[in-house]
Amino acid sequence: MEKTKTGKQKPAYGMASNCAFMIRRAWRECKGVLSVCAGLIFCGVAASQLELFVVPAILDAVEGGAAPGALARLILWFTLGMVLVRSLRAYLDENTIFGRILVRSSLCLDLHMHFCRTSFPHTEDPDYIKHTKKASKCLDSNGDAGEAIWKTLTDLATNVISFVIYLLVLSQVGPWVALLCMALSAASYFAGERIRVWRYNRREEEAALLHKLDYVIFRSRDMELAKDIRIFGIGPWLTELYDKYTRLYQDFYAKSMRYYLWADLLDGVLALLRNGAAYGLLIAMALRGELGAAEFVLYFMAVSGFAQWVTGIFTQLGILHRQSLELSTLREVMDTPEPFQFEGGKPLPVKDGHLYQLELRDVSFRYPGADADTLSHVNLTIHPGEKLAVVGKNGAGKTTLIKLLCGLYDPTQGQVLLDGEDIRQYDRRDYYKHFSAVFQQFSVMAGTMAENVAQVRGDKVDLPQVWDCLERAGVADKIRELPQREDTHLGREVYLDGVDLSGGQMQRLMLARALYKNAPVVVLDEPTAALDPIAESDLYQRYNDLTGDRTSVYISHRLASTRFCDRVLLIENGGIAEEGTHEELLKQGGRYAYLFDIQSKYYKEGAMEDE
Ligand code: ADP
Repeated sequence: MEKTKTGKQKPAYGMASNCAFMIRRAWRECKGVLSVCAGLIFCGVAASQLELFVVPAILDAVEGGAAPGALARLILWFTLGMVLVRSLRAYLDENTIFGRILVRSSLCLDLHMHFCRTSFPHTEDPDYIKHTKKASKCLDSNGDAGEAIWKTLTDLATNVISFVIYLLVLSQVGPWVALLCMALSAASYFAGERIRVWRYNRREEEAALLHKLDYVIFRSRDMELAKDIRIFGIGPWLTELYDKYTRLYQDFYAKSMRYYLWADLLDGVLALLRNGAAYGLLIAMALRGELGAAEFVLYFMAVSGFAQWVTGIFTQLGILHRQSLELSTLREVMDTPEPFQFEGGKPLPVKDGHLYQLELRDVSFRYPGADADTLSHVNLTIHPGEKLAVVGKNGAGKTTLIKLLCGLYDPTQGQVLLDGEDIRQYDRRDYYKHFSAVFQQFSVMAGTMAENVAQVRGDKVDLPQVWDCLERAGVADKIRELPQREDTHLGREVYLDGVDLSGGQMQRLMLARALYKNAPVVVLDEPTAALDPIAESDLYQRYNDLTGDRTSVYISHRLASTRFCDRVLLIENGGIAEEGTHEELLKQGGRYAYLFDIQSKYYKEGAMEDE
């Protein structure tokens, strides 16, 4: 969204553009949606005209001394017409839903595919996340803009056509009757609109209240929190919060209802004025003999109906305006430019057996919305086949460094190079193929153990390879014990017979997954965080075997774990504070040696106390 001069957000797409977008979409996905709309417009207009003309036509026939047979035929035709139009409308109404859902689903699919495939930085960008939440809101249900717009367009067209017909009828009485009706109907609409705008402008306030309420409800029902809720007695706190936000929402709701009440009252008064003046005039004309009974009834009905069309047009335009804003947000999200190249980038196939060199050249990086750089002017070359350890305190920027190396973020300044070439030119998905990683937070699927290692559907899994990786990751024995071995499902969210693994076992399974991928660069971010000391030391000893001659980066806050690496980097204050082998750094007697000393003292003292 652009900003207007007043600082308000201006949608990138206008109402006409959004209507055209939806019509194009329906034309592509389900043309039936458009023909059903056309049918409904026809029925709506036809029904209103039949209702308007039926009584005057019968009166006219009676006044004209029509024979009983002709009168009966006239009534029959009108009745038949009504029955046909109403049946057709009911039939079409019943059949609106499927096509409209189809069109909405196609938009949902596009939006979800966009989320799934978007560049990684978007997934952590609060602005983007907020925008996408808003965008998906317009596709949530049948009543949201992505589907409800068809009803709005149908109603709008019906109102406009009927309005024109009624206008022609009323202008027979005199132009100012039509003008009076139009002016007072418009006044009553705008009075109501002020109230609707008031409510609309407070939707953020309403959304924030509902969001907090939803949050409390969601956290109270979250099974993963059940332990904490019981042990820390969080129940009363949650109940208090629930009461507080329910009360606030009730107050908000009551306030808006009071506004609506005033709007309804004003509407009533204006309707009284409008109808009173018009009816008064018609009665005066009838008394003066200027109008026959049939004309009198026709104009009388036209006056009361006219206001309905004028209000209808304004109301539908108001609704369309809001729906258009929501659709604009949806389109803006789908059009958000990708910071990374994908299909358009240079292909980068993995070269078998090739040892890659990675380089950060004068790299600085700042997270979106942050007010300082996390990394600043970092220069680092990871040589082909080198085993690099990255150490530093929590929050020093180790994971950020890895995200940059893996191409999950681009530096705010500087370059990341693979074999001397800037990685920005490549298809980013090809680049990712070069990395086997175990991150601290990982995603697993409710598939089998084997599928989670291989990351493909069961029939495509290379089983011997899976077992080899499970073995090397040190989790094969555990998988062998499971009821269906590698075919046992992971987690119980989907499969009742699924099995949950402990944190350490899960970390090993993720290691097996990284090994299975067999990519030329291995990245392990705190891979021993959930392992017991024996498993941890086992991993250190087998690190060379696990990574082979591949380039690898090992992150840890445990300085002792870096001995088996060719080089150690200490990250501090947004940069590389020290680098060298473990022994060199100890000899240097700087920060690394100091931190190592503290850590080893703690372990030694702990061990002595244990003894
Ligand atoms: P480490 O891995 O050394 O513990 P990180 O690289 O995870 O540190 O984080 C470095 C700094 O960047 C921290 O101050 C952290 O709060 C911040 N940070 C990490 N991830 C994000 C993010 N997605 N958005 C904003 N700030 C972040």
